[in-house]
This record gives sequence, structure tokens and C-alpha cells, in this order.
Amino acid sequence: MATVRATLADATAALAAVGIDSAALDARLLLADALALPATRLLLEPMRVVSPAERQRFRRRLQRRLQREPVSRIRGEREFWSLPLAISAATLDPRPDSETLVAAVLARCPAPRRALDLGTGSGALILALASERPQMTALGLDISLGALRVARANAQRLGLAGRVRFAKGGWSDQRLVVPRGAGVFDLILSNPPYIATPDLAGLAPEVGFDPRTALDGGPDGLAPYRVILGDIGRALGPGGRVAFEIGLTQGPAVADLCRQAGLSEIEVLPDLGGRDRVVTATRVGVG
Ligand code: GLN
Repeated sequence: MATVRATLADATAALAAVGIDSAALDARLLLADALALPATRLLLEPMRVVSPAERQRFRRRLQRRLQREPVSRIRGEREFWSLPLAISAATLDPRPDSETLVAAVLARCPAPRRALDLGTGSGALILALASERPQMTALGLDISLGALRVARANAQRLGLAGRVRFAKGGWSDQRLVVPRGAGVFDLILSNPPYIATPDLAGLAPEVGFDPRTALDGGPDGLAPYRVILGDIGRALGPGGRVAFEIGLTQGPAVADLCRQAGLSEIEVLPDLGGRDRVVTATRVGVG
């Protein structure tokens, strides 16, 4: 009879053998998922017997992790800003680093009224903000219908569907693509694809499970920022603020694009690891 302890020991060894640093934690999270138990329970019940059916469920999950699929994808859920979010093959797996953008916006926008999220994916950024700003309404855009389905389900589950809507759109090669009649916004966010195409091949194997369209930012990784900022006046009202997630070397270039777009109060902000992660700027002016 296999126990929790023995099952975890075997799985941890297998995961470590393929070079996964978080082997013990991953084994615990996956076994907890297979047993439909909180992960902390496993530590309290090391001698609990794992039935053959449970072992089977666990094995399927372990196999996927051994192929480098992230635990969050195997579970179909990721915690972001302390909110449980469903993710799917159509969405980027939201990273803790992106919480930097949420924190930056909260610190600078005490009372946004209408927010727009370009390339919303699972809805992580806009749902986190909406959860903190009860007076705010928001629109999340994505070109992927699969992503929109996930984002809408997340909004429903979090009780935010009344204030946060989702629609097809974002940007094309040349311009913003915002539904007709959407008007202007006082806050625009985006975590666009920003990896330079030639760098895609060198990413960690786990990143290969994110949709390529959510990662590929063109030859230098900056194509989406050029389009979005080049057309920002159509969607950003006077006094409005933009906030972008960026790759670690992109701060100066995106700050420049903000300047060229006529924005001011430009700031490049680091994440908790000290790497540049967010650029924010304001459209100063009235009327
Ligand atoms: N966070 C992803 C990574 O660095 C990139 C996401 C993106 O391109 N917006 O792997």
C-alpha cells in the first residue's frame, strides 16, 4: 500500500532528476490536486493510504510536470493577487511579477472610473484591480475567443461580471481595435506580448506552454507598444494614465514611446526582484 509520504518521496526524486528546482513543492501540490485535498493536509497525514485510483490520477499529473508543464496549468488554476483564477491553453499563465503592475496602479490611481485592459488573457490584471476599486467599471479586450471565455468565467466566479466586461479586440498591426462606442478611458493597462521573436527559442521549457501569441512581441519585442502608444489618444482621456508590463531591458525604449505619444509623468518601476517591470505615464491636460 502506497502512503502519501512514499508517493511524495518517489515523485520528488523523479522531478528533481529532470532538473526541476521546486520538486518537493510541486509533488505536494500535484498530489493534493489529485486527492482533491488542501496541500497542507498532506503534511499532516503522511501515512494516509493513496488508493490505486488516486495513484492513477496523480501519475497523469506527474507525467505532465515531468514534461515541464507548469503546476498551475496542470491544475487549471493560478492564484493572482490572492484571487483564484482559471487559466487555459488560450491564456498566458499570470506570473506573480505582474502583481507589480496592479500595485503600481493602485498606488497612483485612487479612483479610476473606467479602465481598459488590452490583451486581457485570463483577466488577471483587470479583475485584480476591479476587486480593489469597487467604483470602477472596466473592459478587457483580447483577440482570442478562448481567452475571453476564461476571463468571463473568472469575472463571474469573482462576482465582478457586473462591472468588468470582455470583448474581442486589442490592437492590429497599425492601430487600437476597440469596440465601437466604447468611448474613452481614464486608465489603460496592458501586459502585451513583449518577447523578441528570436528570444522565444531560449525561454524556460515551462514558458513553451503559454500561447505564443501572448509572448511574441515581434523582431525587437516592442511592436505592441509602438502600435498601442501610437494610437493611445483615441482611447485615453485627458488626465488618464497608462500602465504597461515590460521586459527587463525595455524600460528606456517604452518610456521613449510614451514621450513620443505626448505622455508625461513617465516612470519605470521595478518588480520585487529589482528588475524593471512596469512603465506608467499620464496624459496631462483637460477638456
Ligand atoms: N511573463 C512572460 C515571461 O517573461 C512574458 C509575458 C509577455 O510577453 N507579456 O516569460
